[in-house]
Amino acid sequence: MLDSKKEFIKEVKRRLGSERFEHTAGVVEAALKLAEDKAVSVNKVEKAAFLHDIAKNKTLEEMQKIISESDWKVDKLEMSIPAVLHAPAGAIIAEKEFRVTDEEILEAIRFHTLGHPDMCLTALIIFAADFIEPHRNFPGVEKIREIIFKDFTRGIIEICSSMIQHQLETAKIIHSNTVMLRNRFLLY
Ligand code: FE
Ligand code: FE
Repeated sequence: MLDSKKEFIKEVKRRLGSERFEHTAGVVEAALKLAEDKAVSVNKVEKAAFLHDIAKNKTLEEMQKIISESDWKVDKLEMSIPAVLHAPAGAIIAEKEFRVTDEEILEAIRFHTLGHPDMCLTALIIFAADFIEPHRNFPGVEKIREIIFKDFTRGIIEICSSMIQHQLETAKIIHSNTVMLRNRFLLY
């Protein structure tokens, strides 16, 4: 059923609805642009971008159920942050319902919200593209957009800093994965 690319995109659109799909299309665009000068598979980057928010329309209960019935590991802290659970739930849906077996694509979906210190280049591209895609318009996004296309390493640091800063300002939980990803690039 999802043999052709057209059918695949149609199914993603059906699941996301047109508004969310617009964001996803922006992530695809940004991710392909970021992939241009990098040693990654463009096909993998594109597929991961299309699927990154595939669980976004699920309810919290549905996401918790999908995760608890799977073998995927999600720590307690992450389980307590509803806004990030569509990442692991999405990776599980990609694997089970879209028959994705590629580890890099699954990793990109799995870690696109919080980041992870060991994430692969494909996953880093999706993480960054999600943050700077053309529809994003929060204060400071222009600057980060400019940086990431010039210096990918610095761009990732800026994204992590911005995420951590936002969590501090809104007195919300900071997950160590984002801090460790930032450290990895600072030590690089
Ligand atoms: Fe997301
Ligand atoms: Fe997204």
